[in-house]
Amino acid sequence: MNRSLAIGLGLLLTVGIAGCQRSESPASESKAAPTAAAPTGAEKITTERLLNAASEPSQWMTYNGTYSEQRFSTLKAIDKDNVKTLGLTWFADYDTNLTQAGTPLSVDGAIYVSTAWSKVYAFDARTGKQLWQYNPQSNGARVAQNVCCGIANRGIAAYNGKIYVGTLDGRLVAIDSKTGKPVWETMTIDESWHYSITSAPRVAKGKVFIGNSGGEYGVRGYIGAYDAETGKALWRFYTVPGDPSKGFENEAMKKAAATWGGDWWKLGGGGTVWDAIVYDPKTDLLYFGTGNGTPWNQRKRDKTGGDNLYLASIIAVKPDTGEYVWHYQQTPGDTWDYDAVSPMMTVDMTIDGQQRHVLVQPCKNGFFYILDAADGKLLRAEPFTEVNWADGVDMKTGRPRVRKEARYSEGKPFNLAPGVQGAHGWQSNAYNPETGIIYVPTQLAYFPMVEDPTYKPSPVGYNLGIDFAAQFTFFATHPDAKRGFTGYLQAIDLASGKTLWKSEMNETGTGGALATAGGVVFQGGGPAKEFRAFDAMTGAKLWRIDTQTSIQAAPITYELDGKQYVAVSVGGAATGGYFAPNYSRLLVFELGGKTTLPPPKDYTPPPLDPPANFGSAQAVSTGLETYGKYCAACHGDRGQSRGANFPDLTRTPLLHTQEGFDDVVLKGVRSEKGMASFANALKPEDAVALRAYLTSRANEVKNAPPPGPPGAPPPPRTGNQHEQ
Ligand code: CA
Repeated sequence: MNRSLAIGLGLLLTVGIAGCQRSESPASESKAAPTAAAPTGAEKITTERLLNAASEPSQWMTYNGTYSEQRFSTLKAIDKDNVKTLGLTWFADYDTNLTQAGTPLSVDGAIYVSTAWSKVYAFDARTGKQLWQYNPQSNGARVAQNVCCGIANRGIAAYNGKIYVGTLDGRLVAIDSKTGKPVWETMTIDESWHYSITSAPRVAKGKVFIGNSGGEYGVRGYIGAYDAETGKALWRFYTVPGDPSKGFENEAMKKAAATWGGDWWKLGGGGTVWDAIVYDPKTDLLYFGTGNGTPWNQRKRDKTGGDNLYLASIIAVKPDTGEYVWHYQQTPGDTWDYDAVSPMMTVDMTIDGQQRHVLVQPCKNGFFYILDAADGKLLRAEPFTEVNWADGVDMKTGRPRVRKEARYSEGKPFNLAPGVQGAHGWQSNAYNPETGIIYVPTQLAYFPMVEDPTYKPSPVGYNLGIDFAAQFTFFATHPDAKRGFTGYLQAIDLASGKTLWKSEMNETGTGGALATAGGVVFQGGGPAKEFRAFDAMTGAKLWRIDTQTSIQAAPITYELDGKQYVAVSVGGAATGGYFAPNYSRLLVFELGGKTTLPPPKDYTPPPLDPPANFGSAQAVSTGLETYGKYCAACHGDRGQSRGANFPDLTRTPLLHTQEGFDDVVLKGVRSEKGMASFANALKPEDAVALRAYLTSRANEVKNAPPPGPPGAPPPPRTGNQHEQ
């Protein structure tokens, strides 16, 4: 619940001031004379340069490197033989301890990167000196009720002297790349709905494209185009139909409406465009993925069980007008939160003896899709992790062969794989066109889908239609059921679909990937908190560095003054939970880099000192339900925080008095800092039940038997690791 604490402590735990730190370079390296000029940064980014980004490997001008979004660099000064000498050049601390998801851009001597709370930094790439920081001052109270999965920002776009960022509270902002001052901002959402933005905008043809999130709460998904110079809204393409009585915006909406029943539009329908957007100059099409329906459970959304277009689909539109061209729906009648928004790329390859220009997506639903980029024809669909909801995809119809029992219903839960965490989240893939190998951050995940028979649409909080809390009783009554969540990097031969190698498994997910012509793949992850380089062919770990924190974001590489660099944002869950110090930073590496990180700080967690249990078993149970609906999104599956970003509620002193608890939960005394009042959803007795549940949970943790004997496996993780 305590978002306020999340932010307050975020400031307290700031690790030094934002800015660069570097060790002295060897004297021989100090050929800094030609570097005295201030970086021009994004000032000279033109449409031409963006179209030809692959011919300028010294730059990293767009979110995934080039319009193909392959995340491949032809730079090879750093290669598999010398990567072992890679070292830190400089690093810069961010002013937040929250999870970092932002991919940096490196342009003409400047590095730009977005951080949690949609803030943007600019650094001098040569010195690491901070040039400016932009803080959009997102409306924390609004954000608190609209953001499903953390307050991250995944990236920015650069064009013609401007840096573009989408803000958590729904604005698209153009920042002057030289001064850091906003040039224009456009509110892209209707603020009476639960929209937010965490994804990176894309720029093409003088337009900025951005979607939004909110499908877990209830919104009508869309993508919009905005004039890059003025911010003027140019067009909007909705992904699901609106109220039929008001007419349809276009033929695509009319067709989609025929696949829906009931009154879905009252909750918006869902289908948000919350991550992948690809502009393809070859076809002159704009591709984007769409998310789950609202609520997740189709029986509670549309009893007729139709396909519910265009949920869980990839859609292609004309970038100039937003006109529909084609779609492919990966998961018809989605009832499993199988967003189709995972990163996509375009690739030229031979399939079945034929040269094709294709769109590639390893999807959250566990299948790896290859579509013809021009017409959306399905060419391949093979599982790339454990999949139990469908027995493959019928290549004639393009439809999955869904297992009947996977459509869980009242009293008939289904232990889903991939679980709602997905086979693949938003973490970027990388593809080496010289070897035909794609590197996919992959997840092996299980989640019991248990229908909530009492579900009713709610204007506030999750609208899922499943009983989130029942996962715990499910595992108690199905002790042999598979469970847990692990992530790993997987190398797949694109043509054959064969897995060539996998990195080790870990429980904190896995970061985005970067492939280079040096035969190296860079990626953050692993059971240890490390940034590492793999041999691209064998998966052998060639180099690693302890980052003191986990990595979700994707690395980039660029060249400056004849030298190749690698940069990555770090900052994930701190060991020891939210109250532990975390290290949110930009790290920049070069061969022979000699800078070292300061040692991690000492840390003592706040006492686990809950009051005695109170309230009836019924109250505790009601409190758990309330918690699952309104609090788990930020505070984790059982009060112990989602990652490092939010307070561990089993240790909050607020448990000691109902009055103090209500001040935060119902009166919103910390809403300015991001913990909104939930008085619009909770009655005073709900807050009492919530405190009763959290108190009982805190005592349960306090009295938990000590961990098993050395070598015993850790308890399995479950919880809401799903995406947006
Ligand atoms: Ca989703």
